[in-house]
Amino acid sequence: MIDPREIRKDFPILEQQVNGRPLVYLDNAATTQKPRQVIEALVRYYETSNANIHRGIHTLAVRATEQYEAVRGKTAAFLSASHPEDIVFTRNTTEALNLVARAWGDANVHEGDEIVLTLMEHHSNIVPWQQLAQRTGALLRYAGITPEGKLDLDEVRGLIGPRTKVVSVTHMSNVLGTINAVAEIGEMARQAGALMVVDGAQSAPHLPVDVEALGCDFFAFSAHKMLGPTGVGVLWARRGLFETMEPFLGGGDMIALVRQDESTWADVPHKFEAGTPNIADVVAFGAALDYLQDLGMGAVRAHEMALTAYAMEQLSSIEGLTMHGPERADERGGVVSFAMNPAHPHDIATIADGHGVAIRAGHHCAQLLMRHLGVAATSRASFSIYNDKDDIEALAEALEHVNRVFG
Ligand code: PLP
Repeated sequence: MIDPREIRKDFPILEQQVNGRPLVYLDNAATTQKPRQVIEALVRYYETSNANIHRGIHTLAVRATEQYEAVRGKTAAFLSASHPEDIVFTRNTTEALNLVARAWGDANVHEGDEIVLTLMEHHSNIVPWQQLAQRTGALLRYAGITPEGKLDLDEVRGLIGPRTKVVSVTHMSNVLGTINAVAEIGEMARQAGALMVVDGAQSAPHLPVDVEALGCDFFAFSAHKMLGPTGVGVLWARRGLFETMEPFLGGGDMIALVRQDESTWADVPHKFEAGTPNIADVVAFGAALDYLQDLGMGAVRAHEMALTAYAMEQLSSIEGLTMHGPERADERGGVVSFAMNPAHPHDIATIADGHGVAIRAGHHCAQLLMRHLGVAATSRASFSIYNDKDDIEALAEALEHVNRVFG
């Protein structure tokens, strides 16, 4: 069982006051805070092990290489993936999805082929596919959302057909919190001979994930949303898939042999990690993975689901507040988006900030979803392991203040 009070002791940033009130950080879907263990791992790496990796013979280079590669193994274990070589480190989810659209998409998607997405995607799972469609003449197809804020699976099924080359879906919506049936959609894709890409930016931090059980072909996520540093993303690919792909970027570390007119490539995963990677932050990400694994992702999920249920209960008693997304907390992750007309989401976030409560307001990089909901923006509270019921009550108190201001 998770004890947020104990956990909070590991997060120095949460000790501060904001606008004269204790900081209540509820913007975890944007990025989480970092425990001391991660911060110390980063500092320790620079104080004891810093060197460039893979090419060096000297002791520090070997040590840095071992530490970096060990995190590849930890990442594979975190995803229940059998092979660390199927993990490529990128800068973030966005770069991981661009890698797929470029390195796999350019070779396999042609004019008239179809790419199936959904209206609840983050821009990072839309724009790379739009660019691919523009390069190749492929067509984009978007599955809609039911009035309850769930993905319309019948529509997904109807869209996937013989022309479908790739289906790319978020595992969990960063706005609605909806957890999507990606295994079921992956099965539909497989039967049509299409590839299944899962945007795991919001799921990997909050749910137990087993990529092999999900049956997907690619799974992408970001370290910074799961207690790790910024600047590290992960792309996992089904066994053998990376080998069929040409590199995304060229340069040092990704080659086997360079001649004047052409080169050959290093083995996977190095073929996809051109140049000096973000070594220190990858090493520190290892500490974040250890932290989450020690808690257990099942316990993380249980804690955040209970908190979400409590938040939905508290917020439903606030006059004039409407929530977006599924009604049941077990069908969603720890994200609650809401409206309080006539207060603009920016006004709501500003008043909340006055109470020391950090929430997000805006389109959340999901403009297609905003259009579907018929709003320009929403307010969003999102939870992590260090949040507790007091935090939700502080949010509710701030929202009562919004009602006093806007009548
Ligand atoms: N996908 C989803 C569902 C997200 O919530 C986010 C970030 O908010 C991203 C992708 C992009 O992540 P990053 O900015 O780390 O690339």
